[in-house]
Order: sequence, then C-alpha cells, then structure tokens
Amino acid sequence: MPLERCSKCGNSPSGGLQNCSGCHGATGAYCSRECQVAHWKVHKPVCRPLEDNQVWGIKILDNRYQPWSTQFQHVLLDPSHPIFTQGELCPLTEQCGFPLLIYSDAIHGGLKAYEDNQPAVYLRIEAADGFAPAHWQFNMPGTCSVVRQDRKLLTKEAIEIVYSYHSHLLDMADPDFIPLGNGPWSRRPSPRSLKTFADDYRKEEIQREGRQGFDYFP
Ligand SMILES: [Zn+2]
Ligand SMILES: [Zn+2]
Repeated sequence: MPLERCSKCGNSPSGGLQNCSGCHGATGAYCSRECQVAHWKVHKPVCRPLEDNQVWGIKILDNRYQPWSTQFQHVLLDPSHPIFTQGELCPLTEQCGFPLLIYSDAIHGGLKAYEDNQPAVYLRIEAADGFAPAHWQFNMPGTCSVVRQDRKLLTKEAIEIVYSYHSHLLDMADPDFIPLGNGPWSRRPSPRSLKTFADDYRKEEIQREGRQGFDYFP
C-alpha cells in the first residue's frame, strides 16, 4: 500500500512522493530531500522492506522498564501474530478515529506475568467510565503489543501522543461524574480533540525539547 502523505510533514504534493530507497516506500515516503534528511533518525529503525503483510507495531515493555519513553519499542509482527485475532480494540482510540489493537502476552497468551503495565492499562480504559475492564485489572498484563487496526505503520511518536492523550484525559476526568453522555470526560474524546492534542503536543515538544522527530500524525 503506497504512502499517501510525506512521512515527515504530512503534505501530499501533486507531483507525488519519493519513496525511501531503503524500505522501498514501505514505511517512508517524502515530499522533498529536506524532509527525508530531517526524518532519518526517526525513520531508520523501521526502514526495512516488508515481507508479505508484515506489520510494524509497538511493544510496550512492562513497568520494570519505566519510564514509558523506554517502554515503547518497535516490533515487526507477522500476520499470524495472535494480536490480529485476539487483540482487543482500545476503546478511546476507536472513538477518536485512530483504532489500535492491544494484546497482552499474559492475559491473552497465557504467559505468566508478575509486572503491571501502566501505559497498556491506560490504552485499554473504557470510554464509558475510564476504567480498564476486570480482566485487565485483576491480571498483571506484563509486556503487551499494540498495532493499528488498519495495519499501517504505528510509530513511536504516534503511540507517545496517543498514550499522552489518554493520560491527559484521565488527569482531567471527573472522579464523581454524573453520567450525562460524556462519561467521566470533561470533553467528549473525538477525532478532532485527538488531532488538536497531537498538534499542541508536537509544537510543545519541538519548542521545549527541540525534538525534530515528530512526523505527521493522522
Ligand atoms: Zn515533507
Ligand atoms: Zn526507508
């Protein structure tokens, strides 16, 4: 599936995009040489031609590996990975038009885990009440994997933004909420609210930390 937008800036120029020669455009395509050069440090770990139907996801290491910035790791998944059949839809991501599937090696795979996974539990919270379901609360999820439901590249930057969005929503949530249709949320999570959050987050990271890696977020 050819990329439709520049992996760095998100533009789709009328002249088309130049595929990255390292991955044959599987995970990188650019509107300009400048964008490609600026994006190389971020792109390098996923610059690899994909075999049939492989999908780049994110492995979320358990809490022993905190902080979350080191818990997120790229992982290349074969189409036979159980995440595609047993993975659970992360409810808020679906509501926000960026549906992600999450799979716990312990909860779904039956591998014993002794560690919690805070980012994973946040991603699994229900839109209606802000709590993870019982099987996530009473079992240690251990290491988890996440993919985009549409099987497109899930970048570390995107998972960072989505996780931070969940964290932000939970910070702003009303603990004594009266169900009026928004659940516990001060504003209803939506594609628009995620997009606004992503734009602000990116701007802030660039200004504060000088992080140039932030690429286009759908
Ligand atoms: Zn560009
Ligand atoms: Zn590449």
